[in-house]
Amino acid sequence: MIVELHDVSKDYGDVAALRGVSLSIEHGELVGIVGPSGSGKSTMLNMIGTLDRPSRGVVRIAGHDVGALTDKQLSALRANVIGFVFQQFHLAAGVSALDNVADGLLYAGPSLRERRLRAYDALERVGLGHRLGHRPHELSGGERQRVAIARAVVGEPRLLLADEPTGNLDSRSGAGVMELLRELNAGGTTVVVITHDRDIAASLPRQVEMLDGLVVPEARVGRVDGVRT
Ligand code: ADP
Repeated sequence: MIVELHDVSKDYGDVAALRGVSLSIEHGELVGIVGPSGSGKSTMLNMIGTLDRPSRGVVRIAGHDVGALTDKQLSALRANVIGFVFQQFHLAAGVSALDNVADGLLYAGPSLRERRLRAYDALERVGLGHRLGHRPHELSGGERQRVAIARAVVGEPRLLLADEPTGNLDSRSGAGVMELLRELNAGGTTVVVITHDRDIAASLPRQVEMLDGLVVPEARVGRVDGVRT
């Protein structure tokens, strides 16, 4: 099991963003997280990504009890196991695609030459080997998200977390990004993706639906006796 949440709650002041969520994700799964705005999707993804600590409950990622790790150990876990992709791309302005991706390896500490070689491979993998020197403003939205995905996977994380990665893209670019996530998953990466797009969600092998800070029991998410309805 790569992700295990046991009865996880998260309070922000008097807002209960998560209210006792339990969820398990196995190595190699491709999971869509769906639910209305404010239902706790991003909060849950941040728990899985160890970007935030729960108020109550246990988070285990790749076998590590996150609550028992020091900040330094957490940073190492994030750098070695987890890749992140966000709706807003979060690329450095004025920096080439190659170096944006190479920066994804800063924590791991190989030489600049090695980082750039691996960044080149990652950009090739996402179909952008011909855009190495382009800076973000010289790329389309879909290309920017591919660069962001290349940066997320350049360290070869086992777990890729994506928060609305198609939210800022037209449907064609969005479909391309989803196809890329599927390819990465087919290559063995566990992928968890938040999406508000019901069509995208319906095309994924597993959907986790959230409502009011809780996970809706999965047997009720469009399945009857194991048959997708
Ligand atoms: P979703 O991703 O499903 O839209 P979120 O996880 O972002 O939902 O938010 C869940 C609830 O927690 C919302 O009511 C939101 O306003 C609140 N919330 C999220 N992050 C914070 C924060 N940093 N501070 C205060 N409230 C927050």
